[in-house]
Amino acid sequence: MVYCLFSFILGIFMGSFLNVCIYRIPKGESVVYPPSKCPNCGNRIKWYHNIPLLSYFLLKGKCAYCGERISPLYPAVEFLTGLLTALLFCKFSLSFSFFYYLILVYYLIVVSFIDIKTMEVPVKLSYFALLLGILLSPFFGLSQLKESVLGASFGAGVILFIIETYFVFTGKEGMGYGDANIMAVVGAFLGWEKVLLTLFVASAVGALYGLLTLKKREAALPFGPFLAVGALVSLFWGDRIINWYLGGFTP
Ligand SMILES: [Zn+2]
Repeated sequence: MVYCLFSFILGIFMGSFLNVCIYRIPKGESVVYPPSKCPNCGNRIKWYHNIPLLSYFLLKGKCAYCGERISPLYPAVEFLTGLLTALLFCKFSLSFSFFYYLILVYYLIVVSFIDIKTMEVPVKLSYFALLLGILLSPFFGLSQLKESVLGASFGAGVILFIIETYFVFTGKEGMGYGDANIMAVVGAFLGWEKVLLTLFVASAVGALYGLLTLKKREAALPFGPFLAVGALVSLFWGDRIINWYLGGFTP
């Protein structure tokens, strides 16, 4: 319990770094240097104004120098990162699995928020995550390398197939190639079965969201966040869901 809380606190600090990634990667800037500045007044943000979650509330969501409003997305990303880090730690405790899946979770957070902000999925970041997913998989045993490569190919392949099919029938692009990259990463980390589960959950959540917000079908919707939700469900409860589903077919 104490460790879960500790991992939450560690997580919100990582969330602070993920915010920097979300903000800078689309601009092609370095994520380590220079230190953060207020985008409005250009003043350097002091460390005591940069304590995850806490500072946002102490500063009442405003820059300490010029009073410019700080987006609530920043504390939201910090909280979400803290929560998912703690959940992952509670599931895997201090193990290789914990660190391995942490890479996937952090990738999904960064990619989702960049997709929401810019409607783009950063290519280099996806390839980097894909590489890590495949190259680190043999630490689970050499046979996992095959699973990982198979999962990645399957993930990308399914999305490319959907893009092509959708294009043939409607003349429009449904999903983007960025979504294929996301699913390649998901497949590399979670394997091909969870690629299917991820797509299933993502479509269900996406459809529900579409119904609730009554988004017009023409309005482009970033699909990355839905894929991320699907992948997280698959990561945390996938084994249980798949066993339950397969169990339904055994006499
Ligand atoms: Zn300012």
